[in-house]
Amino acid sequence: MGRRFFVGGNWKLNGSRASIQELLEAWGKADLDKSVEVVISPPAVYADFLRANMPAEFGLALQNVYKEGSGAFTGENSADMALDVGADWVILGHSERRSIFGESNELIGEKTAYCLGKGIKVIACVGEQLEEREAGNTQAVVETQLKAIAAKVSDWSKVVIAYEPVWAIGTGKTASPEQAQEVHASIRAWLSKEVSATVAAETRIIYGGSVKPSNCAELGKQEDIDGFLVGGASLKPDFTTIINAQK
Ligand code: PGA
Repeated sequence: MGRRFFVGGNWKLNGSRASIQELLEAWGKADLDKSVEVVISPPAVYADFLRANMPAEFGLALQNVYKEGSGAFTGENSADMALDVGADWVILGHSERRSIFGESNELIGEKTAYCLGKGIKVIACVGEQLEEREAGNTQAVVETQLKAIAAKVSDWSKVVIAYEPVWAIGTGKTASPEQAQEVHASIRAWLSKEVSATVAAETRIIYGGSVKPSNCAELGKQEDIDGFLVGGASLKPDFTTIINAQK
């Protein structure tokens, strides 16, 4: 089975009804590559509005959810609520959740288990910090993060792995296509060894970190890069160029 190219837009804490309207117009006008799976991840408060107004073929992701369905957890959203407003995906383990909000591998594993159990698909993020890369620890860090997630997955068709080197997120410093490919290949090799050759061949591994219209085509040509998770550039009308990276 081929791996369908996947482009996610992670808006982070950005957007307004007015800015969403502009994006909806840009998407509506563009001639988008229909072979690509597009998933947009707005702040949770806009999820319902976006679902009602964006192209029906786009998927919707929340940027985070808690590990429970409901209860006394002020400020949180749940996978159950995501599903209720038509979100079919959730981003888990984003580096900003890990570093700013202190999410551990253990918590990310618990959330992964909860979400998959509820039938919501997971974009699972992994990636090393600059010091970890410079110390030669990229692979070890990524494998530790992967292990915590993989332990909770039984159906890999519901998971996309996003490799996002922390030093490339929001910095304008994209990993070179070769640097990204090297880590993507190592993640695929890890899946082959720890899970199965079929899962390794079929699981999409997407790249995130300063992806933009000018670098997406080269990155997308790499053998083990099956798409992107795009932050800043997904807030602009020419995000459509990234969706069409392989056109
Ligand atoms: P960026 O963010 O494209 O703004 O670097 C990517 C991400 O954090 O998902």
